[in-house]
Amino acid sequence: MTENDITPTAQAVCLRQPPPSAQRIVAPLIDIGINLAHDSYDADRDAVIARATAAGVVQMIVTGSSAASSRLGVSLCRQHPGRLFATAGVHPHHATELTSSVLAELGALTAEPQILAVGECGLDYYRNYAPHTAQQEAFQRQLELAARCGKPVFLHQRESHEDFMAILREHWPALCGGVAHCFTGGAAELDCYLELGLAIGITGWICDERRGAHLLELVRRIPADRLLLETDGPYLLPRDLTPKPSARRNEPAYLPHIATVVARARGEPVEALARTSTETARRLFRIPEIDFRSVP
Ligand SMILES: [Zn+2]
Repeated sequence: MTENDITPTAQAVCLRQPPPSAQRIVAPLIDIGINLAHDSYDADRDAVIARATAAGVVQMIVTGSSAASSRLGVSLCRQHPGRLFATAGVHPHHATELTSSVLAELGALTAEPQILAVGECGLDYYRNYAPHTAQQEAFQRQLELAARCGKPVFLHQRESHEDFMAILREHWPALCGGVAHCFTGGAAELDCYLELGLAIGITGWICDERRGAHLLELVRRIPADRLLLETDGPYLLPRDLTPKPSARRNEPAYLPHIATVVARARGEPVEALARTSTETARRLFRIPEIDFRSVP
């Protein structure tokens, strides 16, 4: 990075300047997983979006993790057309909430043009907030929904690889692609996902020297046309940001930082990674191009 790369445009007003530790990459970036419906953004959501834009994060996919957050995601998209898109789904933590009426509501949401994927859905045997059988049921119903609506799946998996793969494999022929979001697993899991045909979402987990160091090696195995970048904000604030933001909250303006760490690990210029990951996101989720120079 040079000094010019991190200087916001002259037109940027104070509010639009990224936080001090955010960087700017010239090629536009897309944050494919941001929990922007989370209440930690209630007080300053527009400023968060403006800082993302100033940092070169031109479009974002708002993660739906419950019926309520999926609904809110669509309304946020309506306020920021062309900039925000969303997913509709129920996180495995909330698997018991996926009643037939909620499933019908998700089905109706997937008809909205702003909804680009079904999820996040999957299995989480780490926290075990919902019984395994309920998680498996909810996962299957959402994979069926994705097949019906013809949109890709946004997948969450933790400590449940075998069951997850067994269910996903069964449904895969009817699906039109998907992403293993927030990949934190090992080489064997990565190879399984790549072999199946999934894209891989990398978050600031890779910036965590305690538990994410293995990803520095593993990201080299991901073909450029399968690698996606996401913050998963407000969670997973990159641990190596300097100076450390006073709030512990993560936000999309930090995506260039994650891109820089991933590019360095892969031994490629960050601009090249930004370009290919943005192209990959556009192709998988069918995100329309935006003339980001005209973004207010
Ligand atoms: Zn997740």
